[in-house]
Amino acid sequence: MQLLVLPRIRYADGRAPPNLGAGGVMGREAAGLNLHGEAMLDAVFEHLYNAMVITDADFDGGPFFQRCNPAFCAMTGYTEEELIGQSPRILQGPETDRKVIDELERKIRAGEFFEGSTINYRKDGLSYVVQWNISPVRDADGAIVAYVSIQQDITARLAAERERSLLAEALNAATDPVIVMDKNFIIVFANNAFGREVGRPVDDILGHSAFELRPRTAEGLAEPQIRRVLAEGSPYHGVVSFEAPTGKRLHVDLSISSLIGYHDPNGHYVAIAPNITHMVEQQMVLQEMANIDALTGLLNRRSGQIALEIELQKAAESGAPISVAMGDIDHFKRINDRLGHAVGDDVLRSVAGSLRDGLRRNDVAIRWGGEEFLVFLPNTPLDDAVPLTERIRNHVATTPQIASDSVTMSFGVGQWRPGESVAAFVERIDAAMYEAKSGGRDRVVSSP
Ligand code: GH3
Ligand code: MG
Ligand code: MG
Repeated sequence: MQLLVLPRIRYADGRAPPNLGAGGVMGREAAGLNLHGEAMLDAVFEHLYNAMVITDADFDGGPFFQRCNPAFCAMTGYTEEELIGQSPRILQGPETDRKVIDELERKIRAGEFFEGSTINYRKDGLSYVVQWNISPVRDADGAIVAYVSIQQDITARLAAERERSLLAEALNAATDPVIVMDKNFIIVFANNAFGREVGRPVDDILGHSAFELRPRTAEGLAEPQIRRVLAEGSPYHGVVSFEAPTGKRLHVDLSISSLIGYHDPNGHYVAIAPNITHMVEQQMVLQEMANIDALTGLLNRRSGQIALEIELQKAAESGAPISVAMGDIDHFKRINDRLGHAVGDDVLRSVAGSLRDGLRRNDVAIRWGGEEFLVFLPNTPLDDAVPLTERIRNHVATTPQIASDSVTMSFGVGQWRPGESVAAFVERIDAAMYEAKSGGRDRVVSSP
């Protein structure tokens, strides 16, 4: 196959081409090359991976194809014989961008290098996206005698790029914060929602360690544990709480998955952290509603009993003393009867407040029944529990109530005996409380 016979050529910028002829730098002396001169160029043209095509410089109906290499024929589906003498227009079709073609013609007519891409059509009608690099070829006098065009089918690359940018756009439109980190937890991608959550522009975040961005007030973000779980090949999942710049406590549901072993030999992690503050707050309210007595704000009987069991278990293990006082309002029925149930409720609230006032930091008050309260006193032997209960009794009795009557309470108090069941212990204190009632009320009876 003969290459188009061209006069001595020069590049557009005036450089002389390397001498490929006999004795030239790429000729005989070039190690291992048996080809030189035009045969060498022919071989390059034949074996070039990229599509290469040479057209003449005839703008009267042309330019026309002069030479097309096998890569070009493979890309277009035509044979070289079918193409030679044709205009590149046979490759154009409805989706070919006219503006690109016009720009191409303007540039090459002006003798400039052109780089661009548009849609072309194969012989079988299938379209592809082509990228061109077209250079004018000049003779010794500088006249354009041909054009050489290196082309590439970039359809697949473009589709991949589009898919990538679609994914990035989707992640940026998503309302949940997402970051991608390399194996050293350096952030390589952060979506807009993540930027908003940490209050910094996304460009500021890239390149930083994710742990470095950790909020100062964060709870539930244990770096060693996260590293360990991920190193074991498991995804990490946990709730992280922290204080927002506004001072509000936020909760996010953090999950981190490893991309190692999929199509990512270098290893990356993807973290997604939807804001679940609203849910957590709701849950806390529900939990509180389930544990707290609505009228008095004290622990209700169910949660109070659990707390007492835990405290007794701790005392059993440590050998520390623990005491319990049980108090019941005296003649409460009369208050209800005389002043009405609503005033009765106010009195209950007020008495609960007085009880709480008399307690130390680790003591716990429970609304055990209607107007019956149980107080447990950790690390307290009976000798200390009795005067403490006496103080509480006195405080209640001397606190003015909405009702003109003073409200008094009767108490039983006792220290837990190792091995005693919770039920037996409470029953024993209850019995002491009834002794206080029958003994005249407004008093404390201790169970030895
Ligand atoms: P005692 O000195 O013997 O304890 O007399 P008491 O009148 O307090 O007798 P008792 O313990 O039998 O009565 C408790 C009353 O408390 C009965 C009930 O109507 C009332 N009560 C229970 N729960 C509530 C409540 O939530 N609000 C109001 N207002 N009253 C309640
Ligand atoms: Mg009572
Ligand atoms: Mg009662």
